[in-house]
Amino acid sequence: MSVIKPYQFLSKEKIEHLANDLLMRMQGTPNFPKWPGVADRAVNFLKLGMDSVKIPDQNGRPVAARIYPTQRLIQINEDIPKLQQDRGFEASTIAHEVGHWVLHINQDEADGIVEQLELSLDCATTEQPFLCRDVGERIALSSPKTQADWIEWQAQYFASCLLMPRYKLEEARRGRDLTNWNHLYAMRDELGVTISNLTNRLQDLGWIDIPKGSKQIYLRNTGFNR
Ligand SMILES: [Zn+2]
Repeated sequence: MSVIKPYQFLSKEKIEHLANDLLMRMQGTPNFPKWPGVADRAVNFLKLGMDSVKIPDQNGRPVAARIYPTQRLIQINEDIPKLQQDRGFEASTIAHEVGHWVLHINQDEADGIVEQLELSLDCATTEQPFLCRDVGERIALSSPKTQADWIEWQAQYFASCLLMPRYKLEEARRGRDLTNWNHLYAMRDELGVTISNLTNRLQDLGWIDIPKGSKQIYLRNTGFNR
């Protein structure tokens, strides 16, 4: 057994279930789920550490963040200004690393083994400043090609489910019009995510549709439209 699990297929349902399971385990603890800031609370609940350091590019690509399993440590790249300036982007990056911890790391092994201290999962970005979000968007357009792409997709899908569980979205949308951008921006602030995190999640859930290249939002699931 190694610290990082071998690649396995995970369905969206399975990933969402694991994110909900984490939120459920956080209930009734000092780190109970609360928005915004649920990603930081998950980090504390899981007893992971976090710091900001300079992370060098890898293969010419900026690395947004990485996780050292045996040190239970998430490192955020302080050289990416957007991580300091955009709280939603920072939350998405942290939740993505939590996703790697839950989905891809053998936690018993991580606690027991000291020889593999140097092993890390680096989250590199292919396009600019943005690693994790770009991964999500890129993969939304064209399907992941390599297992490494899929691992990144899984972590990002987990992040989306953790930051925006259905029950929280249903609560946040109450009294709001999902076809109104001002209302979506208010939800973004309430949840502590980026606007693209939110619109991607709502489209993935089939609640809204925003045709590519358009700013027009269409309501898809009228079941909630009351
Ligand atoms: Zn990653």
